Amino acid sequence: MKIVRIDAEADDITYGTVEPDGIRLYHGSPFFHWERSETVLPITEVKLLSPVIPTKIIAVGRNYADHAAELGNEVPDTPAIFLKPPTTVIGPMAQIRIPQGIGEVHHEAELAIVMGRVTKSISPDDVDGHILGYTAANDVTARDLQRSDVQWTRAKGFDSFCPLGPAIDTEFDPSEGSDITCSVNGEMRQQGTTADLVFGVPDLVSFISSVMTLLPGDVILTGTPAGVGPIVDGDRVEVEIEGIGVLMNPVVSL
Ligand code: ZN
Repeated sequence: MKIVRIDAEADDITYGTVEPDGIRLYHGSPFFHWERSETVLPITEVKLLSPVIPTKIIAVGRNYADHAAELGNEVPDTPAIFLKPPTTVIGPMAQIRIPQGIGEVHHEAELAIVMGRVTKSISPDDVDGHILGYTAANDVTARDLQRSDVQWTRAKGFDSFCPLGPAIDTEFDPSEGSDITCSVNGEMRQQGTTADLVFGVPDLVSFISSVMTLLPGDVILTGTPAGVGPIVDGDRVEVEIEGIGVLMNPVVSL
């Protein structure tokens, strides 16, 4: 099943699923309780939003060996985690907004885990039942600030620096090794496979849940493969994960 969140007329309808002839609307939320409606809208009539509003986003640094190497870093012994605020989240087609005077800003194509249940201190074997599904993410990063600041909060935390979408795929299996790519204005920049994650999904979720309670809808960004590079005003950035879809966002400078 592919779950989307939409900008709909009715207040109680914000979620839908992708069907062959359009988007099936649901009452409620897949994270708590939802009910299928009889309405199916043509996809051209639906505005997609980010498929989830997380209470927090936990990101993992240096989780592909080739990307760690390109920035001159070692692969860590334990997952290197950091937080992005929920206000970084934007949906498909929404603008990545680059504030003035922050230097180079980079794209980072990432597989995102969307949690489905309250999760605390679980073993890697139990992780599967706690995940709702997977989506695509762009961990937009102000690279100059990441290098100059002690913490990464500013570099990773600007509004609009976490595009998510287009859908949450509940059947996606990251262990199968799906292609993950990023292209800018149609030119391929990053090309990797989810099979190359240093710490896989079960280990990441188990590790993070030993630190903090994960809530339904919380998002984990699993790291980016090699090929990160600058994005500038007027660019169109596409993150694609095989089986999940394409997440496109235009870039504007403020
Ligand atoms: Zn990242």
